Amino acid sequence: MDLHYGAENEAFRSEVRDFLADNWPLPGPDAKRDKPDQILEFRRRAIARGYLCRNIPKRYGGSEQEPDVLKAQILREEFAEARAPGEVRGIGPSMLVPTLLERGEEWQKEKWVADTVTGKVIWCQGYSEPGSGSDLASLATRGVLEGDGESAEWVINGQKIWTSGADSADYMFCLTRTEPEASKHAGISYLLLDMHQPGVEVRPLKQMTGGSTFNEVFLSDARTPKDWIVGKRGEGWIVSRTTLKHERNSIGNAATTSAAFEALVRLAKKTRVDGVPALERPEIRQRIAALEGYVLSHQYSGYRQLTRDARGQANGVITLMNKLIGNNIGDQQARIAFDLLGDDGLLMAGERALPGGPGPRNSRAWVTSYMGSLGGSIAGGTRNIQRNVIGERGLGLPRDAAANRSSSKK
Ligand SMILES: Cc1cc2nc3c(=O)[nH]c(=O)nc-3n(C[C@H](O)[C@H](O)[C@H](O)COP(=O)(O)OP(=O)(O)OC[C@H]3O[C@@H](n4cnc5c(N)ncnc54)[C@H](O)[C@@H]3O)c2cc1C
Repeated sequence: MDLHYGAENEAFRSEVRDFLADNWPLPGPDAKRDKPDQILEFRRRAIARGYLCRNIPKRYGGSEQEPDVLKAQILREEFAEARAPGEVRGIGPSMLVPTLLERGEEWQKEKWVADTVTGKVIWCQGYSEPGSGSDLASLATRGVLEGDGESAEWVINGQKIWTSGADSADYMFCLTRTEPEASKHAGISYLLLDMHQPGVEVRPLKQMTGGSTFNEVFLSDARTPKDWIVGKRGEGWIVSRTTLKHERNSIGNAATTSAAFEALVRLAKKTRVDGVPALERPEIRQRIAALEGYVLSHQYSGYRQLTRDARGQANGVITLMNKLIGNNIGDQQARIAFDLLGDDGLLMAGERALPGGPGPRNSRAWVTSYMGSLGGSIAGGTRNIQRNVIGERGLGLPRDAAANRSSSKK
């Protein structure tokens, strides 16, 4: 592992810094535009310079740069330092776009990729159902093809749950059982669905933070054109693996873990216990020092993965561990923070710490972060499921007996 970027990359870093100094915040009359307009304009300039949407071909609105993990890392560092808008976040850009690029039809990429990476259209992920979470392949939402030729449509009936952002989404990528006679994994198709239609009803779920970031979605004769399918009919399970791979990697980000740890140290310095800063008390110091070992290991594992990526070597099983380790560290951080907060831990959740930002900055943000960390360890596959994946794919252990059981004819 070499932790230096080298002269050529440092020269690239200077160029990026100059670009950011000249363009964010936007100078001149552009600074008077509405904030969303300014962000859009900045992103347009950054794409034109080759700094954003680097892995997206130009014909789909990206900047189509040669893959270079070190340059990509420098860009993340410098954009974060300048607090400049980076890539549009969300389920669409991080999960659907890589899936379309890998497995979509040409017309699907042309129709959706550019609008998704610029945030013009919003997507939600319709996988989980009330009876199908970890055992996702047992899902029961039915899709039936009606009509002939070009005008044929899928008619979809069923219920999705925990659908993040469904209340503001324009489209859903939806796992649907289209071949009820096939075995459970082989009977699913990956359909794209317009959310703005009478057959789609979204009911927000109230969370303990007070917010409603996820929803129930009821599909009652919802319709979608025959060719709004990614991959072939009955191949939705394989396509969904592409999406989940990207979800799990984005959840286990070491930079987020390190930012939250630094915020925890700040909290321990600020909080006073018996008249002295909590960080000076041995029992707190020891807990934080033990945690720091895990945070640093996670960070160095990230560097190791980056180095292997830069050398064109596969990371294999290591990437399977990122989400689980990130979740475990998040838990321990939250527990120490709660002990430090004392009575303030009873406050209502409030401000959110933004991804890529400096971590929670006040008591309410810590409460929100704690509550969010519980959800984070379930979303994209629970800890037990991650352990199964590591055991089976990483260590070559026998397959989970429950997952092997077939429930065809659902
Ligand atoms: C914040 C958040 C956002 C989400 N967003 C979305 C979204 O946008 N779209 C979407 O489709 N879904 C979403 N989900 C749903 C998420 O994917 C599921 O909650 C998750 O897959 C677990 O399913 P479940 O809730 O049905 O739990 P279950 O599968 O019922 O699991 C219950 C418990 O049993 C354990 N368990 C189950 N099977 C096994 C096994 N084989 N071996 C060992 N232990 C097992 C689990 O680990 C867990 O502890 C979201 C969830 C959260 C928390």
